[in-house]
Amino acid sequence: MLGKLYIVATPIGNLEDITLRALKILKEIDLIAAEDTRQTLKLLNYYDIHKPLISYHRHNEDVKSDVLIEKLKQGNNIALVSDAGTPGICDPGEEIIRKAIENKIEVIPIPGACAMINALVASGIDTKEFIFLGFLPLNKKLRLQKLNEIENSDKTIILYEAPHKMEQTLKDLKQILNNRRIVLAREITKIHEEFIRKDINELIENIENIKGEMILIIERNLDKKEEEKFLNKLTLEEHYEYYKNIGLTKKEIIKKIAKDRNLNKNEVYMNFLDK
Ligand code: SAM
Repeated sequence: MLGKLYIVATPIGNLEDITLRALKILKEIDLIAAEDTRQTLKLLNYYDIHKPLISYHRHNEDVKSDVLIEKLKQGNNIALVSDAGTPGICDPGEEIIRKAIENKIEVIPIPGACAMINALVASGIDTKEFIFLGFLPLNKKLRLQKLNEIENSDKTIILYEAPHKMEQTLKDLKQILNNRRIVLAREITKIHEEFIRKDINELIENIENIKGEMILIIERNLDKKEEEKFLNKLTLEEHYEYYKNIGLTKKEIIKKIAKDRNLNKNEVYMNFLDK
């Protein structure tokens, strides 16, 4: 019989943030695949759990996932854990999960802490619709694309960032945010947990004194929603004129109208053959 792969969420700081079910699974499985075995050992020792550990991280994900799949095929039940929080969320996991599914191995999530959700709910910023972008890319072109997405987003944005890159990220965000609110959540569930709700300039000025693990929650672009409401009221012809007046080409206008109205580009094009 095939083994099962459990995706087990572990604490993001406070060791007590683990579910009873997660502890039960960790006690029952045959093997734990851990991103950082030393980090996981701290958790296991705290709960007096003793299980074989195998390291599974970004740099050995490809090879180790094959080893783990073999073990699952032999009937071993495996728990996948990352350093902190939910595996697969900016942490290794996707590779083994994909291969497990390909091999018809059951994948079972064991819910628990995830840093971004806790940052979001305590931020005070709109939680109805949000986009999680993980870490901003370092590649210039990809980074610009993401910043552009943030600039235009009508949904709350969540970003992870490493402490030593935070200053640059805040400076890049300053260029596009205008007066949108931003919350820096740091050290969630730890002694120095803090939600900093300051102006972005103040954040930049003080960033040297802000330490620890950090997340940014950025308010949606409220103007975007207003523009959307306004465009929705226009006829197709008025919509076209609106973009024409701000200097877009016919091709750009058709693309934008199709996107705004959720229509096919050809469909829109047929309406403006004579333009
Ligand atoms: N898998 C994890 C999860 O479920 O949230 C995320 C892992 S990712 C490699 C690490 C990033 O998550 C950090 O750089 C930080 O942005 C965020 N993070 C993790 N723990 C945090 C905490 N206690 N407080 C604030 N941010 C945290």
